[in-house]
Amino acid sequence: MQFDRTIWERPFSRAKIPPFPCPSCKHGVLKMIPNSLRLEETGRSKDAHQHEDWEPDWIMERWIALFECPVDGCREMVTAHGDTRLEQVFDEDFGTRFESLFRPRGFHPAPPIIRLPENVPDQVRQAIESAFELYWVDSGSAITKLRASVERIMDDSKIPSTNKNGGYLTLEQRLDAYANAFPDEKDTLKALRFAGNAATHQHSIANVVVLDAFQIYGPTLERLYGNDAAMIKAIQQKMITNKGSYTS
Ligand SMILES: [Zn+2]
Repeated sequence: MQFDRTIWERPFSRAKIPPFPCPSCKHGVLKMIPNSLRLEETGRSKDAHQHEDWEPDWIMERWIALFECPVDGCREMVTAHGDTRLEQVFDEDFGTRFESLFRPRGFHPAPPIIRLPENVPDQVRQAIESAFELYWVDSGSAITKLRASVERIMDDSKIPSTNKNGGYLTLEQRLDAYANAFPDEKDTLKALRFAGNAATHQHSIANVVVLDAFQIYGPTLERLYGNDAAMIKAIQQKMITNKGSYTS
């Protein structure tokens, strides 16, 4: 799955809904069920129209909708909700006009922002899938989940979490140990650790940081747990077991 930020970073129009991938079968593209969409202006926003200084960008709206996966045998159903952002658009028939763009504040279950290889350990997968949901709700929490998933990679790679005196090792110390075995992947995981630390100490984390984190994490997970990684491991084991001598 190619990483396409435009799916995730911008509010969308009713006429051009981004191709959100299905959270269940992963390859279907979710379709909004047209009559499921409900968009309402808040009461306070309606009242504000009476104000003499009222401008269109004072409008506050909320929406809910159902999305469905069109793939036979899947038909996953996803709920979505959010608010809107008013943008000026040019229309050939009507000239310049305002349009409400849909800004999601939640999906359930959430579309996968990156592809997770089948061999990703369950605990790593669960943490990353939580980050898919949290991305829409609170970017700092999404990053914290990604950092937690890095800890779970350390666990899965049998990197000790305590020193010989029983004291806990920090993620930084565990990553140093991990770098001996997987030097190429250390920088991505180190970057996620920094982002996770920033999320813990800062009031808010920009969405761009979360998308950057997903973008660099995807290829790393592919190299660690993708089919190529599994195939390389199998060949390594075959060569070692047979001491380099085999005919098939
Ligand atoms: Zn599906």
